[in-house]
Amino acid sequence: MRILVVEDEPLLRAQLVGAIAAAGHTVEQADDGVQAQYLGEVEDFDAVVLDLGLPLLDGLSVLRRWRSAKRNMPVLILTARGNWQDKVAGMDAGADDYLAKPFHMEELLARLRALLRRRGEHASAQWQCGPIWLDTRQARVLVDGQPLVLTSHEFKLLSLLMQRKGEVLSRTELSEHIYPQDSDRDSNTIEVFVGRLRKKLPAGSIETVRGLGYRLLCTDSA
Ligand code: CA
Repeated sequence: MRILVVEDEPLLRAQLVGAIAAAGHTVEQADDGVQAQYLGEVEDFDAVVLDLGLPLLDGLSVLRRWRSAKRNMPVLILTARGNWQDKVAGMDAGADDYLAKPFHMEELLARLRALLRRRGEHASAQWQCGPIWLDTRQARVLVDGQPLVLTSHEFKLLSLLMQRKGEVLSRTELSEHIYPQDSDRDSNTIEVFVGRLRKKLPAGSIETVRGLGYRLLCTDSA
């Protein structure tokens, strides 16, 4: 995989580049926001590790510009310890995950693996389940050939159910998929999302397995 590391502190940048390269990836690096923004816009990366405090252009602005230019690679931001405002602003700007400094390199690598895995799942593009058809790349859902409008949470939920159709998924698994960050997890809200999604899908598509979770059932019609 091809990873971009953006960090202005030379020692930390060298450690990041070394560890990510040792994990088998190709690593490009940038030490200021302007260079980072340019690289992220003209080159393709499978994931980016982005420090927020950068010279010339701060990390949040870099991220916002990438997202408004439709650059959708997964981005892991590095924030100052305990600065929750940074985390919130980062997630709002389109970050996929965050890590507070100082961090253990093992944790960074684990989070990077998770981002790449999620990207891999998304890259597989299309799933069908009976009359339901979902295209992850275009974020599009059709039921019996008709477009279905879903919120982003409903879409993520349906993506996971379709990816693992026929399997029972617990509320915890579903909420972990929707909210990568521990702090935001609330398995009760999953029931609300499932309820809304169920109303939009053909009757009987989502089965509640008492005490265990939910399962997507695919009929052979369509
Ligand atoms: Ca910095």
